[in-house]
Amino acid sequence: MVVVPSQMGRLNKRALLTQLQRLGTASRADLAKSLGLSQPTAGKIVDELLELGAFEEVAATNETPGESQGAAAKPGRPGRMLRLTRSRARFLGIQLGVTQTSLAPLPIGIGDTGEDSWPMQFRTPRTPGDWVWQLEKMAAQIEQKSFWGILVSAPGLVDEQKSEILYSPNLHWTEKARLPALVRQVWRAPVLLLQEERALALGHHANDPSDGDFLLVDFGEGVGGAVMLGGRLFAHPLPIGGELGHTPVPGNERVCGCGAIGCLETLVSTRGLVKSLAAASGNMARNWEALEKHVAQHGVVPWLARSLEATASVIAGALNVLGLRRVVVTGTLNELPPAVLSYLKDAVNRGTLWARFGEVKVEGAPRRRKAGLVAAGIDRFIVPVGDAELNSP
Ligand SMILES: [Zn+2]
Repeated sequence: MVVVPSQMGRLNKRALLTQLQRLGTASRADLAKSLGLSQPTAGKIVDELLELGAFEEVAATNETPGESQGAAAKPGRPGRMLRLTRSRARFLGIQLGVTQTSLAPLPIGIGDTGEDSWPMQFRTPRTPGDWVWQLEKMAAQIEQKSFWGILVSAPGLVDEQKSEILYSPNLHWTEKARLPALVRQVWRAPVLLLQEERALALGHHANDPSDGDFLLVDFGEGVGGAVMLGGRLFAHPLPIGGELGHTPVPGNERVCGCGAIGCLETLVSTRGLVKSLAAASGNMARNWEALEKHVAQHGVVPWLARSLEATASVIAGALNVLGLRRVVVTGTLNELPPAVLSYLKDAVNRGTLWARFGEVKVEGAPRRRKAGLVAAGIDRFIVPVGDAELNSP
């Protein structure tokens, strides 16, 4: 590939952004050195990003000495450190969920906040018009009125290039609705649509870029996954991927929102698990709290073990095909006693070829969808760089 100067500039800009995200705070000299760029080249890009508002300067404190503290603090020049802008939100995140829609203004320097919190929420209505109406009510409560972009996480099969939802088994009205146009009725900003599990995988990777190969599986109202390979989200022109939840489980006769019978998610979504408990307890216990209590008291009872075995089978199949040996589990399964995740881990290990040579890691992690949305926002709106460019030597 021929690299033209403007392209080089964008690649360097992207590298600086990513590096500062990794380092948290750094001096100009640290940034230049860690990327092997000359100080003038790095300095020019830093100035551009400062002017844009993507970076901000903070005073270097004694508690966080940088390697080049001495250089930055030379006479006449106070030691200034750089970080991704935290003092002001640049994006607005919208999490469109099956039951709740949540909003949060998002700074670029989002940092590690653990499990996402979304303080602004409303019940997801059943029509596009009502959804817009609720968004308008929320917008009135948000002090900041303008954003660089509105980042929407949505369930279902999402064509991220065209910003369309092609199919949504648990939220059918979104299939015909033009979500970006709906959002633009409320905010005059570009809109990015991201599939919800892909947002989680991006967020997990942004928080820990050291291992870029994993399968993320999220449990909640549905069950879905996303594949991270070599630090990039696995993508395909047809936006179907990671749909673990719609794999049939032999013997399961529950009807799924997708129209099929026996899908995994009818067993291990929150609703599915509660339904199984209700069936096992003669309808005495019918909610999530009862399930938590039940598992705390009785451990992994036979019906739960069967559901976890089925889940592990599907996950192990994916690992065997993709050659991955790390699973990141997010969502409601982590709210149950640890015996549940460790049962799943053992079952996954029984089903994967890699486990004959080593261990398949199955780890619980917080949902970091907000960080994932920000990562996608940086990608699309601040420094757009194509996959081919990033992957070229
Ligand atoms: Zn299904």
